[in-house]
Amino acid sequence: MAGKESIPKILVIDDETDIRDGCKWILSRMGYDVLCAENGQDGLQILENEDIYIVLCDIKMPGMDGFEVLAKIKEHYKSVLVIMITGFSTVEIAIEAMKKGAYDFISKPFTPDELRIVVKRAFETLHLTLEANALKLEQQKNLIALQTEQSRIRTIIETLPHGLMVTNILGQIVLMNPVAQNYLDLGPDNCLGKNIELCIEDKGLCDYIMEISRGHYKADKDTSYELVLSDERFILAEGRPVLNEDAQCMGAVVTLSDISDLKIFDRLKSEFVAQVSHELRSPLSVIHDQLAMVIKASDSEKSGKSVTSENNQYLLGRARDKTKSLISLISDLLDISRIEAGNDCLEPVKVHVEDIIKKIVEFQAVQAKKKNQSIALKLPDTKTPSLVCDPLTLESIFGNLITNAIKYTLEGGKISIKMDIRDENVRVKIKDNGFGIEQKHLTRLFDKFYRVKDDNTRFINGTGLGLTIVKSLVDSLKGSIHVESEPGRGSRFTVILPCNAQTGQTE
Ligand code: ADP
Repeated sequence: MAGKESIPKILVIDDETDIRDGCKWILSRMGYDVLCAENGQDGLQILENEDIYIVLCDIKMPGMDGFEVLAKIKEHYKSVLVIMITGFSTVEIAIEAMKKGAYDFISKPFTPDELRIVVKRAFETLHLTLEANALKLEQQKNLIALQTEQSRIRTIIETLPHGLMVTNILGQIVLMNPVAQNYLDLGPDNCLGKNIELCIEDKGLCDYIMEISRGHYKADKDTSYELVLSDERFILAEGRPVLNEDAQCMGAVVTLSDISDLKIFDRLKSEFVAQVSHELRSPLSVIHDQLAMVIKASDSEKSGKSVTSENNQYLLGRARDKTKSLISLISDLLDISRIEAGNDCLEPVKVHVEDIIKKIVEFQAVQAKKKNQSIALKLPDTKTPSLVCDPLTLESIFGNLITNAIKYTLEGGKISIKMDIRDENVRVKIKDNGFGIEQKHLTRLFDKFYRVKDDNTRFINGTGLGLTIVKSLVDSLKGSIHVESEPGRGSRFTVILPCNAQTGQTE
């Protein structure tokens, strides 16, 4: 019945034709759609088929009487209002009908006005009931929407990757998500409503949050607090006051972010800067000293004291050597930063690895010859699949490895380079019978600036960046590099590069 926009229907059940007709005439003129039945049975039939709002029902009828009809209506059509039509001076009966659920009664004979008033009142009641029901429905809907909204916000807060905590002006925790609980090592529920000082061990963090909760936040100050956890994790707490409409502080909202990675990065950066500064300073100091000595010598010559020009030559030669190693350090550093920035590769072209290796061996043979070393090269008999990459990348990888083999092998040593193809991969092994490397150094060999410092290597110049560059370049080709070594017996570096790296082309 609720919400129907059609003309409201009234049913009149009375065995007296005059009453039925009279009611129909009066009520139709009020704008209602009036249906009539001359007995209870017919009336109930109409109720079953029509959307009736109000029933006017005679009490005394042959067959099913008004009480019986009333009982059936109350049982099956709860929202229908029943107005009983009672005979002359039967008020007791009318009262009994009201007790049994009738909405009102009207006694025969009644005037049109009396009928209008009683029906109008019934409709007003119906209207109010409808409004109340609609209001209740709306309220329920709002409640559901509110609950949905609340649960949505709760879900968002709980799935935030950062910790979140809200306190009131007294510093009591009113909200805390699981990440915050984890950072602060607190159980899920045992902290809500409690003062932060009872829950958080770190006094500095408590003071920081308390200050903001109490409204002592200064917007112009960059405020945050760094918390160090027992497992060496660093948590950054950043709080802001929660203000009401009158800009009064009601508490604090605090985010907690894990900044451990940033801290490590910062430390590595500082270490790197320190390392580079150190590497630059030593040769520069030597150059400075050598030049100072040459200047002093030339001053002495001018003043007639004898200082040989060979000595000057020697000092200048050393200065030149140091300058050379500085230049090589700087170009290694530039290479690394280019590779790490990802823009090392020029236009990729098809390259045959064996062609590059042949060229490098030819070039390095001069150095090897100086040390009376032999370089044996074994390449596949047939042409191998090409790689699509910048040829300089391959030159740098194999150039560095072959240079090292020569550098870290004694005079008369043997170097061998073997290349083959296995499982769609190019495999190159660079072997020497040089100093070898102790097991403990192997894991750090590809780190920046890592150099093995022992009696064999002490006087060999280097930057400790060559293998870092090699590893980064091999990674950029989606390949891998391994090292096996034994002190006193030599080392073997194996580079594996997929033939279909980059564009996946093979010949
Ligand atoms: P650099 O040669 O400039 O010191 P690298 O990064 O190329 O730097 O090499 C790092 C260290 O690894 C070297 O200092 C050296 O001790 C060791 N190393 C590299 N190649 C060999 C090799 N073939 N035999 C023995 N030691 C080697």
